[in-house]
Amino acid sequence: MPRFALLLIASLSLPSLVLCADEAALVGYSPRSSQTEREWEAKFRALADPANIREFMRRLSARPHHVGSSYDKDNAQWIRARFEEWGFDAHIETFDVLFPTPKVRLLEMIEPEKFTAKLDEPALAVDPTSNQKSEQLPTYNAYSTDGDVTAPLVFVNYGLPEDYELLDRLGISVKGMIVIAKYYHSWRGVKPKVAAEHGAIGCLIYSEPQDDGYTRDNVFPQGPMRNPEGVQRGSVMDFASSSPGDPLTPGVGATPDAKRLPLSQAKSITKIPVLPISYGDAQPLLARLGGPMAPAEWRGSLPIPYHVGPGPSKVHLKVAFNWDLKPVNDVIAKIPGSSVPGEWIIRGNHHDAWVNGAEDPVSGQSALLEEARALGELLKQGWKPRRTIIYAAWDGEEPMLLGSTEWAETHAEELERHAAVYINSDSNDRGLLNLEGSHSLEQFINGVARDIDDPETKLTVWRRLQLSKIAQAKSAEERKELRQRADLRIGALGSGTDYTAFVDHLGIASLNLGYGSEDEQGIYHSVYDDFYWYTHFSDTDFVYGRAMSQTGGTSVMRLADAEVLPFDFVDFADTVQKYTGELEKLLADRQEAIRERNQELDEGVFQATLDPRRPTLAPPREDVPPHLNFAPLRNAADALARSAEHYRQALSHRQAALGETPAESLRTLNQMLIESERKLTNDDGLPRRPWYKNLLEAPGVYTGYEAKTIPGVREGIEQKRYAEAEQEVERVAKALEEESSLIESAAKTLEPPPR
Ligand SMILES: [Zn+2]
Repeated sequence: MPRFALLLIASLSLPSLVLCADEAALVGYSPRSSQTEREWEAKFRALADPANIREFMRRLSARPHHVGSSYDKDNAQWIRARFEEWGFDAHIETFDVLFPTPKVRLLEMIEPEKFTAKLDEPALAVDPTSNQKSEQLPTYNAYSTDGDVTAPLVFVNYGLPEDYELLDRLGISVKGMIVIAKYYHSWRGVKPKVAAEHGAIGCLIYSEPQDDGYTRDNVFPQGPMRNPEGVQRGSVMDFASSSPGDPLTPGVGATPDAKRLPLSQAKSITKIPVLPISYGDAQPLLARLGGPMAPAEWRGSLPIPYHVGPGPSKVHLKVAFNWDLKPVNDVIAKIPGSSVPGEWIIRGNHHDAWVNGAEDPVSGQSALLEEARALGELLKQGWKPRRTIIYAAWDGEEPMLLGSTEWAETHAEELERHAAVYINSDSNDRGLLNLEGSHSLEQFINGVARDIDDPETKLTVWRRLQLSKIAQAKSAEERKELRQRADLRIGALGSGTDYTAFVDHLGIASLNLGYGSEDEQGIYHSVYDDFYWYTHFSDTDFVYGRAMSQTGGTSVMRLADAEVLPFDFVDFADTVQKYTGELEKLLADRQEAIRERNQELDEGVFQATLDPRRPTLAPPREDVPPHLNFAPLRNAADALARSAEHYRQALSHRQAALGETPAESLRTLNQMLIESERKLTNDDGLPRRPWYKNLLEAPGVYTGYEAKTIPGVREGIEQKRYAEAEQEVERVAKALEEESSLIESAAKTLEPPPR
């Protein structure tokens, strides 16, 4: 029985007080429209069916469907046909983007002995799609530059800036060398970037069994983990320091008549050649390294001693690519809004994969399709969303957010005017709901999570998340907050999936949602990420697919139907206070660390502790960072907290009368709310990366996936640009002051005129 039916029975048999306490009116809704909304939402959630999600996955992952492949186009057409069947107004929008595919891939060890890497993922008898050789993209890293290099090898751990500081202490330079780095702990494109900055001439990235292989569980096909031949494909485009999307048309849509840069001027292509390899191919190379032992925390679980090098293994790496333009096919499907068609709620998930991609991205795409099918059912039953709803099945996410970025750049003007919220998802698995997004939507998405049932525990997904956060909390203070704060904190948006252009470039409030955390997996971006793997080792009965449909669809409906967009700024203001505290602490910790290190240098600590058989160098002396003035940020955060509280109260006082509020007043108010994320952007963008306009969050230049919050200030401190950090404090403070005045004005529109 759908939940709304239970509610109707309850309202007949229980005192109305109980009903009220149980079902407080939704934020942004009058009590009456709130009740209607809850009824539609309950109907919607009852419609989502795991069997459909399974069938969508089987169809979409049946063949390899990377950018430019025939099955990619076939999938796009099939998705469009489904949207049309379900009553959406759908079309395919195509862009022509630079998408390199491999022409030559050669990796051999030439000293001290000969070895040629296989660079091949074999077909497995039990796995029926693993043998589609002629359609599979070979293992490679997209947007690696062409190159033919020969040099001694150096092992650089995860290839992050701090790893090179340790190499310096060991007296090892990678200048003129080829480095080999482990996957993970950063966006993969950071590894060749940092290697090139240190003078390396080539970069290998391998999947270490400790990270996603036999150390964790049995390998595929006996278990879910990476087998010795499995390789992680993936983009190494340097998107974080330039921009994602087509490298030839930064900042504008890659339409047929767009002006394109010559390839030589494309900023986001790597400086040195890169190739991903399996641990089967990596082991012989690593086993022939000499030099000092790798620090304990660098070592993996291959049956070899992990040395750093350089050499004696000397390798020859040669890669060359077809630098062709390929079409990306975005499917765009609309339900026009019944009363405010000019306000858009956008919901997207990509459909392209590196190979068959059952997990990434078809698990998310299939849930999104089931969501759309159920919304289509509601339309037939008479549901009329107030706002326009746009469903997007993006193409070209894997190479680096090509389809979503080009669409957002092409439609930037319309989106700036109309787009209220963008909701993203990508892969979906079994376990907890992961919540990330703009903090003005924190209260909203907590509310949605309270209405979704967890398939395994039958708790709400919100409650299960709260309890598991309590279990994982590291301090009494953290646990207290988890128990007492009204909303669970949501993560900041970094990058690595399709919300990037919306939140970072255009300032559209965004959310990123997905389930996961319970199953280990080692098939990411390999030929083995397919229907066989997913139906044996992940959400095998697709009940988390259903939970994802319910979560995504409930969010879309609740945003599309509200009289007042359910933005709230109290959590946002609280988060800004938290970030400001973190920045102050970051600087203080740095000052303290450098002061301490300089003192140890004076005391001779490094000479005294030196082992002459394993010599290391003392770290360099550095100037202690100056004090910075955070007062403008503190003051702006205080003002924000006051206006946020004011707005929340004004809205709640007005709630009962929202139904009688004139449409024009609602329109003005909603326009202000839509503006609230735009206000956090600055046209000049972040220092040295003008495409990134949001001053509150961005992917880190040296992290990629992981967000840097208040990035101008934070990266200023991390990268020792203290004067710049101080200027950025001023810019962020100014944006936050304008945000506060906007929120004040929004609050005023809700107050009765003075008599
Ligand atoms: Zn994906």
